[in-house]
Amino acid sequence: MATKTRGNVLLQLEGKGRGECPLCARTGIKLLYDGVLGDGTPTKVCKYCRPKKQLKKAN
Ligand SMILES: [Zn+2]
Repeated sequence: MATKTRGNVLLQLEGKGRGECPLCARTGIKLLYDGVLGDGTPTKVCKYCRPKKQLKKAN
């Protein structure tokens, strides 16, 4: 299965996968992981804000 977080896939994303993380407000960081805002709204977050359980799950 092709990875979603590396290589050419990123270049096809809006902003080449980069943007501002809504949780930690880092700018120019890759937003590749599924997360939720404080009110439960699904969003994309950076690697520092991703849910810990995603670290173990083999994509
Ligand atoms: Zn973040």
